[in-house]
Formats: sequence, C-alpha cells, structure tokens
Amino acid sequence: MRARLLLTLLSAGLVATAGAATQQDLARVEADLRRVAAPWCGRLAELDAQGRRHCTVPFESFGSAGAGNAFAFLGKAGITDELLATLSVDELAAVMGHELAHLVLGHGLFRLRQQLAAAPGAPGNQLLPLLEQSSVEPHSQTPADPRAQELDADTLGLVFAGMAGHDVHRGAALWRTAARRVSGWAAHGSATHPDTVRRLANATAVADAFCRAAAASRPPWPAAERLLPAYELSRDEARQQLDRAALARACGSALPRKTAS
Ligand SMILES: [Zn+2]
Repeated sequence: MRARLLLTLLSAGLVATAGAATQQDLARVEADLRRVAAPWCGRLAELDAQGRRHCTVPFESFGSAGAGNAFAFLGKAGITDELLATLSVDELAAVMGHELAHLVLGHGLFRLRQQLAAAPGAPGNQLLPLLEQSSVEPHSQTPADPRAQELDADTLGLVFAGMAGHDVHRGAALWRTAARRVSGWAAHGSATHPDTVRRLANATAVADAFCRAAAASRPPWPAAERLLPAYELSRDEARQQLDRAALARACGSALPRKTAS
C-alpha cells in the first residue's frame, strides 16, 4: 500500500514527559475541534441530533507503534500513544488541529494528484477515487510546496485549537521544545517538512494575531483566503459560532477583560 507516501508525519520517536495527555484528553480535543472546525469541513461534516454541525473526522488512537507519529488520511486523523504521552493538552489540540487542517484543506488529495501528474499509472491511481470521496476539494491557491502546506496546516490547526479554547501560545511553543523532547524531531527539516525554527516563528505569529483579533472582537481566522471557510456554512454563520469565553481561555492573560465603564 502506498498510503504511507501520503501520511503527514509530525514526529518520530519519543522521550519525554512534559505533557502526558490521555485518551480522555484525545476524546475531548476531538469533540472540541470537530465542533469549531465544522464550517471548514464541507462534505466531512454532518448535523448531530441537536441540529448542530460538526466534522465527521474521527480522531483515532493507534496504540503503541514504537514511535511518536500523528497523521491524517482518508478522512481520519490519528496519533500514536508515544506522541500522545509526550504532549500537554494544549499541544495535543495544536497537533490534532494540524492533522484536521490537512484534511479540510484537501492536502492528501492535492498531493496524490501531483504524484499522478508526475507519474501517470502509478499505484496511487487506485487511491484516487477513495480520496476524492473522503476529502474536501483543495483550494485553487493551495501551495505546491509540501513545506508550505505544512505551515498552512500549522496555521489553521492552531486557529482551530484556539477557537475551542486551548491556549494558542502554549500550543505554538511545542515547536520550541519539540526537538529536545522528541527524539528524531531534527529529521523534520527535510524536503517535506519545514524546520522547527520556521514552524515556531509561524506558530508564534499565528498565536499573536489570533489574540490581537480576539481582543478586538474580530474573527481570529487566518488572513489567507485559502484558509477560510468555503463550504456550506457562510462566514457569517461561522462568525456567530465564535465563543468569546473560549477565545479568552485560548489567549490567557493576552486577552484583556471587558472593563466596566
Ligand atoms: Zn502535516
């Protein structure tokens, strides 16, 4: 199976103990992110019994796999026990937000089409119909460079985490400490993943912009058009779903309280 080609790997190996998120944390983060990301999820969304839209993407635990990995593929996001045990809950929300973002941005489908354009008739051909059924159509301005796609997933994933009330600066700080905490992390400065310095700079800027927007009562969404909701729910509806209390939690002391006049 050529599926491995399409996996979006976040890390390999592990040592560390800074976080120790649990299966319960994963379930909570899954419920949080599937709710706030619904306007982005297109065909990967459905109405629940209460008539609220949420993404259908399941967050699956892959148990112990001997390495710390997270990935998104065929409409599912997954994480191994090794990575889960390394992360704080805020970091877990950023990591799973990243994987969910790959799915709602259609990156897997985009990459498979790229591969097939370069090598028609490759085995990935059989995957194309499956992926087209289980993917959101990628935006026409999706960057061709996989490293730029990773940064897009970091950006939108951190925004998802923040909209659900997870601290965006703590989530962004994952990139400051990942290389120390997770063995094998340095290998990510490769052809497919930006190095951690670049990812930390991007995530920190995203967190700052998120909290500036939240403090000004503006939607804390990414600036790039390709990262905004494009499907089914209008942006006005997505705006109405914003939860000010969650945004305040996401920004800690960075979001000033309303003062009585
Ligand atoms: Zn990725």
